[in-house]
Amino acid sequence: MRSRWNIRQTPADPLEALAYRSRLIGDEETLGLFGGGNTSTKATCPDLFGHPEPVLWVKGSGADLKGCEPRHFAALRLAPLRALARRAAMSDEAMVDVLERCLIHPKSPRPSVETLLHAFIPEHDIDHTHADAILALANTDRGAPLVRTVLGDRLIWIPYLQPGFALSKRVFDAYQRSPGSHGAVLEQHGLITWGSDGQTSYRRTVHYVTLAERYLARQRRRRRWSASRDTTLPDGRRMAWLRQWLPAIRRTISQSKRMCLTYDDSPEVLEFVNASRMPQLASIGPATPDHMLRTKRLPLIVQNREDVVAQLARYAASHARYFQRYHHQDQTMLDPYPRVILVPRVGMLTTGKDATETAMVATIYKHAMAIIRNASSVGRYTSVSEREAFGVEYWPLELYKLSLAPAEAELSRLVGLVTGAVGGIGRGIAQMLVDRGASVVVTDLQPEAVVALAQEINQRAGRRSPPPAGSRLPPRKVEVAGRALGVVMDVTQEESVERAMDETIRAFGGIDFLVSNAGIATVSSIDRLSREAWERSLAVNATGHFLVARSVVRWLRAQGLGGALVFIASKNVPAPGKEFGAYSAAKAAETQLARILAIENGEHGVRVNIVHPDGVFDGSGLWKTIGPDRAKTYRLPPDQLEAYYQQRNLLKARVTPSDVAEAVCFLLSQRSAKTTGCVLTVDGGLREAFPR
Ligand code: ZN
Repeated sequence: MRSRWNIRQTPADPLEALAYRSRLIGDEETLGLFGGGNTSTKATCPDLFGHPEPVLWVKGSGADLKGCEPRHFAALRLAPLRALARRAAMSDEAMVDVLERCLIHPKSPRPSVETLLHAFIPEHDIDHTHADAILALANTDRGAPLVRTVLGDRLIWIPYLQPGFALSKRVFDAYQRSPGSHGAVLEQHGLITWGSDGQTSYRRTVHYVTLAERYLARQRRRRRWSASRDTTLPDGRRMAWLRQWLPAIRRTISQSKRMCLTYDDSPEVLEFVNASRMPQLASIGPATPDHMLRTKRLPLIVQNREDVVAQLARYAASHARYFQRYHHQDQTMLDPYPRVILVPRVGMLTTGKDATETAMVATIYKHAMAIIRNASSVGRYTSVSEREAFGVEYWPLELYKLSLAPAEAELSRLVGLVTGAVGGIGRGIAQMLVDRGASVVVTDLQPEAVVALAQEINQRAGRRSPPPAGSRLPPRKVEVAGRALGVVMDVTQEESVERAMDETIRAFGGIDFLVSNAGIATVSSIDRLSREAWERSLAVNATGHFLVARSVVRWLRAQGLGGALVFIASKNVPAPGKEFGAYSAAKAAETQLARILAIENGEHGVRVNIVHPDGVFDGSGLWKTIGPDRAKTYRLPPDQLEAYYQQRNLLKARVTPSDVAEAVCFLLSQRSAKTTGCVLTVDGGLREAFPR
């Protein structure tokens, strides 16, 4: 890696400079991921009487170095923290208590669990990372000699110890015995560098990581790390395996809370899962304890592709035994199912509450793969013991980081498909679903439009994510990468529908709901209506709903987790208007289809409901095409059509896409858990269209 330090961009203010340096480190994925690693500087702050007081600025627990800003740091009084180094031992609870008491501002974020280490070492600036290249050297059976040979004798070797008071003291004692040191390598954990200013500690991180990277690159060229045992299954057979097994996998791992899965068959993943040494290497343990928070101690390695459910059960039973062996009285067992599933010849599945989380797990495990691979080319890969792993996996101070996640929204953990998503109503529905926590595949005919829509929804959802529950961190932009996915689908073509389903299950591991919304309108009296226009209307407005719903219902039944379907029909079903024959007849077929689906799928816990909107103009492609003709039918100037629709309803209300979306969210949520086969009108009240 190379230094990104730019002297012209370095802020003069010490806290701003610390945030700048932290962002430089956070921008390098190979140095640490998602809240891993921490940085500090020593400065002075005015005390209550305006006298300068020495303080330690250190990163808040769980905050990401990537995108760090001054508000993510906490300032603590340095003198009392330093005095703690004289103690022989200290419990975690006492340490957290002291850290809180030393905060300059009581409302600042909770300081990093490694704060004491930053306080004890009397160097001005300190950086701690979980650098991949350093871990690849340190996590081997000859870690200490390798580190000395490759990185030199200015780095102190610290045998593994769980973070906390004891580790901080051990590093401090070693520091005192090693004048002129540049930092330390923590076995099975990572790198610390220090210096008399921020630039020096940063440059030392870059320097040592680069030395390690160059050495590893040479060794990789010299030695093949593992032979490939199997070749990857062809695309079609991989997809067939996913289709066959994902419903049961998702059902099994969703026993306490519904989970999503994301499939990864990138070349690096396939190379790893196909390697003959993979089962042995992937069973050793995590590359750094911090990874376990997201990946658990071990992945599930699928030995027999035709027997996955039994292997999931064995994994969960083994986690329960691991918990029984090491837990204390007040601990409760976390979800026992795997976060990473490695399938030789197929790829990797990662699990989480949504695609943001599964992507996080995948990213971390890909770094672990690289570390394991590199370590294996220079020695025998090693990891922490099972007992030590438990100590971190169930460590309250580590679990605190998970509590910083935003509270789960009403539709969180649900995955669905919205057809015709680019138009006004579809867009409004998809946006609201993601705002309420769901993951959504937005489909329509034009590739650019669906991709742009998914991007827009993801960005918007990021801005609207609420601040973490119970956290003292101020609200910040939360990345929700991947909660909306744009996929092209022509609802009238079976192949296109099946391809979209494939994309859905690759990205999310299954499906929970459908909003069947795609539609077209034709204005013509029946005596002038062409057969083509009639058939086109039936193809989209009736057959299209059938094809998508059939595919979704088959999946929901196989998955066995219930589900919900909402059909966007029309007030034209109970109250048709003239010159709207092709549309109204097809929409009546859609409504009847929905009712039959409700009858047939109640026993599977699948609810099917219908929404009848009327006169929704905002962003509607439909009204752009048929508006002028409809205006002619009612003998109105085109610009008065919307007002006409508004005036004809009982509430004189202007119906918007978000009104329709609200009804859809209700019908998909548990608030309507006892409702199926129902029609909900969103039309301002039309007496001739009252459902009956
Ligand atoms: Zn660490």
